[in-house]
Amino acid sequence: MIHRDTILLQTEFPGKDKAISTAAAAIRDGELVAFPTETVYGLGANVYDEAAVLRIFEAKGRPADNPLIVHVASIEQASELVMELPESFHVLAEKYLPGPLTLVMKRNAAVLDCVTAGLETVAVRMPDHAVALQLIKDAGVPIAAPSANISGIASPVTAAQAYNDLNGKVYAVLDGGPSSVGIESTVLDLSSDEAMLLRPGMISKEELEATLGKTVNVADDQDAKPRSPGMKYVHYAPTVPLVLFLAQVDLRTKLVAEIGLYLEKGKKVALIGPDSFEDLGAASFYSFGSGSAVEYARHLYSALRYFSAEDIDILLCPGIEETGPGLAVMNRLRKASSRIIGP
Ligand code: AMP
Ligand code: MG
Repeated sequence: MIHRDTILLQTEFPGKDKAISTAAAAIRDGELVAFPTETVYGLGANVYDEAAVLRIFEAKGRPADNPLIVHVASIEQASELVMELPESFHVLAEKYLPGPLTLVMKRNAAVLDCVTAGLETVAVRMPDHAVALQLIKDAGVPIAAPSANISGIASPVTAAQAYNDLNGKVYAVLDGGPSSVGIESTVLDLSSDEAMLLRPGMISKEELEATLGKTVNVADDQDAKPRSPGMKYVHYAPTVPLVLFLAQVDLRTKLVAEIGLYLEKGKKVALIGPDSFEDLGAASFYSFGSGSAVEYARHLYSALRYFSAEDIDILLCPGIEETGPGLAVMNRLRKASSRIIGP
């Protein structure tokens, strides 16, 4: 189904309820709707409508073996999808849900194969975003949704970015303002006795271990048969080459030297990073504020999209420590970069 023009539904007062109920009715009718969440914008369909779910893969150009996350508005709705909610789910739900945490559990017969890419498990998430929660409630069904980008580029964190990618391919984009987290959810597999981190996110491995009171293992995304199929695909790639500098003592000096080399060759070099790096001599600079992991996450995808559309030759980015939420940021940066410079 091709829509000539995608509707942009605003959720500013006073039209909020009307916009959400229009989007919810469209989901129920088998249409695709891009919607806001606190992590990134999602491209949603009724989880029980096979034709609609298949159109998600088509609209994004997403490989069929990359399963979707199912978004729910309540714990009760989560229980519709799984054999049982394990004890660890309840422990984590109490602390983090709604929030940027996706939990993988054994699925039941209600879940379609196309949603899970044939896996015996289903990934479930309850977004911490009032518009998303209202949308799911009004639709009356869980909403299957990957990120609302064309496969291979950065996930959208604003309605305008989602619209840019999906105009003509979806019924509507529901605008709920910029995503506050800015990178995709932590994905944790609870389908066996050991908890396995499939994708790092802002809720860190260390935090999950403290809450669960046990070790969380980390899935190897270089594996031939990865536990989380999405991990094997290239993500987030900007159209400009990105050089990532790992955190190191003399980072400033190294960046200044690298910028100098490009300038000598007459290349336009841009820098993304904390305000303290603004004066290093690059032609363009995109600020990550104070440079905390939270701010890196919030600005990263917009920065990558911004420079993909600009006339520059090379993009440089200083890395951060790969602990806590810094691991999630560096995971995305590593995947986006064409060259990584270590200490
Ligand atoms: P996206 O929504 O585009 O951020 O992608 C969803 C991510 O969740 C991908 O990395 C998927 O591989 C992962 N995922 C979804 N369902 C499952 C599942 N049942 N088991 C493991 N990983 C999953
Ligand atoms: Mg994605």
